[in-house]
Amino acid sequence: MKTIKSIILVFILLVAGSTVSYAQTENHTHKAPHGGLVQEANGYHIEMVKGKDSISFYLLDAKQKTLSNKTVTGTAVFDFFNKTKSTSTLANTKKNAMWVSTPKANVFTYCTVSVVVQGKTITAKFKNDAVSQSDIDHGHQH
Ligand SMILES: [Zn+2]
Ligand SMILES: [Zn+2]
Repeated sequence: MKTIKSIILVFILLVAGSTVSYAQTENHTHKAPHGGLVQEANGYHIEMVKGKDSISFYLLDAKQKTLSNKTVTGTAVFDFFNKTKSTSTLANTKKNAMWVSTPKANVFTYCTVSVVVQGKTITAKFKNDAVSQSDIDHGHQH
């Protein structure tokens, strides 16, 4: 019985190990064509560019080329320090940006963008780079 448990454990470790090495095989740098932050998004990329009162998102392909937003719809879910969330619909601009005004009532910690492109939903989660990780762990801003 003990042997079987050990075998199962070894198998789990092997599976976990192979998952990690698979994640590391995708190795490329993110160039951010609009000077923002780029995240992986299910075979695509999403770039977040923060402005003074708004945020623009761009849909990029696997090679980080900006894609047209014509047939794309999306939402942004903001997480706040007080554990509440708000959802905004992205407004498409002529320059292929998907635009949303930055929530004013609260400082957001994370923003999760979901975009429907050719019937497929892709998502990317961005941390607000204006807040520190220790503040997020702590639960409020100092
Ligand atoms: Zn990438
Ligand atoms: Zn405190």
